[in-house]
Amino acid sequence: MSTSVATLYVVATPIGNLADLSPRAQEVLRSVAAICAEDTRHTGQLLSHFGISKPLVALHDHNEEAMAQRVVSRLLAGESLAVVSDAGTPLVSDPGFRLVRAARAAGVKVSPIPGACAAIAALSVAGLPSDRFVFEGFLPAKSSARRERLQRLAGETGTLVFYESSHRIAESLADMGGAFGNERPAVIARELTKLFETVLDGTLEQLLARVLADDNQRKGEFVVMVQGAGDDEEAKIAEGRRLYTKLNEHLPPSTAAKLAAELSGAPRKALYGF
Ligand code: SAM
Repeated sequence: MSTSVATLYVVATPIGNLADLSPRAQEVLRSVAAICAEDTRHTGQLLSHFGISKPLVALHDHNEEAMAQRVVSRLLAGESLAVVSDAGTPLVSDPGFRLVRAARAAGVKVSPIPGACAAIAALSVAGLPSDRFVFEGFLPAKSSARRERLQRLAGETGTLVFYESSHRIAESLADMGGAFGNERPAVIARELTKLFETVLDGTLEQLLARVLADDNQRKGEFVVMVQGAGDDEEAKIAEGRRLYTKLNEHLPPSTAAKLAAELSGAPRKALYGF
């Protein structure tokens, strides 16, 4: 329960189109004593577009732990403050979690000012089942770790949501095809709310071909959404993993996985590393 009079506002900012900064967000940013920002230059530009001038406090992944206590001291002294990230909702694959945790632990009121979030905006136009989804954020940069993470997600039945950058989009789509099967339906949402906004749908194999065939489709910021495993697919993976575990008692992993995949109909790469 909060005990202070001051509030820490967690303010969502636009993911491309500046008109998406809500009137309430503008009002709050005008009212606070200072704004904690991931990149003070970037936020300074956003604020100046709206004619807002406020002291900015740098709060990013590398100093957040140390800064959190100083920010909480100001809140406890009665100053209301805001936290923003470069784009979208703070804490969602962005800094802010340690500050919010510290503020809550100190009894400070923490209040959301909701707005853009790339994952939610992307889901809203994907046309994939969205009652249940699993937000996975960024996949690991190293290909072995990325494949392992994807293999563990192969049997997940909710829609999978990933953030991806331009330099890894093709590799990630290829790895997703390997782990989930090339036929799995997926949607790529690129540059949402910006000039080159594009939403592509198809199987993972078709999407990879589209992205490889057109340099422009590898530019910008991406949300990749993959339909979850169907009951049938989930059952195949479960059976494949059961067979793999048994066969691997007597055979090398690659042979065991190949046989288990053939017998169960599950993608081979979904069978190890789970
Ligand atoms: N906190 C942000 C949010 O609420 O969406 C996400 C920050 S994360 C560091 C940045 C990633 O979000 C990008 O690499 C991209 O995957 C996704 N993203 C941000 N803006 C986007 C946009 N306009 N269109 C598509 N994806 C976007």
